[in-house]
Amino acid sequence: MSKKSPERTPPESLHLPRVGVETHAHLDSREFRDDLPQVLDRAAASGIAAMGQVFLGPEAYQANQALFDSHPEVFFLLGVHPTDADKFTDATLAAMDAAFASDARIKAMGEIGLDSYWKDVPPETQHRIFRAQLALARERDLRVVVHSRDAFAETLAVLDDMGFKDRPLLWHCFGGDEAIARELLSRGWLLSIPGPVTYSKNVELARAVAAVDMDRLVVETDCPYLTPEPWRGKRNEPALAVFTAARIAQLKGLSVEDAWRHMGQTAAKFFGLELPK
Ligand SMILES: [Zn+2]
Repeated sequence: MSKKSPERTPPESLHLPRVGVETHAHLDSREFRDDLPQVLDRAAASGIAAMGQVFLGPEAYQANQALFDSHPEVFFLLGVHPTDADKFTDATLAAMDAAFASDARIKAMGEIGLDSYWKDVPPETQHRIFRAQLALARERDLRVVVHSRDAFAETLAVLDDMGFKDRPLLWHCFGGDEAIARELLSRGWLLSIPGPVTYSKNVELARAVAAVDMDRLVVETDCPYLTPEPWRGKRNEPALAVFTAARIAQLKGLSVEDAWRHMGQTAAKFFGLELPK
């Protein structure tokens, strides 16, 4: 007897108009080396009008930005992740500065922040590199996309100390509860919601999303990680953001299409993107 794998809904079958924005993808990772064109095609066919490709530092940017030369729907983020902070030098900052000055596809600095989950880089180093990048973001007046893992209070303290209240800032991969969401919203920032909101055990995150003003929410995959239901267990990719959006729509009492369009417009405004109406 052959074992049949369960049927999974393809993302195209939600029939969403091409007005959505996926704010956070790692399309230069090895998981996409063999089928990037198909991945980008599926994203378009599933309703994604623009997606943010995150380069984890200037070397990754220089090595891989040409992959997206014929894909104007892909915009860029550039920043050194806290778990790479020990490799950060003055030359890194100079290369980032040059990239921001010369490439209009780079729309934000990120992901930058603090990470206490992975213990490889000492907290002092992470703090120093986070602050160095925030200083450049202030100087160049850049949008910032924050990574914070098991380091909520410390991340917030640095951002408050560096004067980021009411500056354009997006909290990537939001996974907190309602109280944490309110702390971020009170500073004028956006929350980017990833796939785990579709997991039935994430009750606190669902409650937080239900409580947040729709104007402050955007959607992301963080692919190839954090795959939403019903594709959990498989590689994540931008097209699957539609399932995360569907869960957000359910929590907000909206149609999937309305939530999709609304979050697409919010993301486009934040990143300064031109989307089809
Ligand atoms: Zn990421």
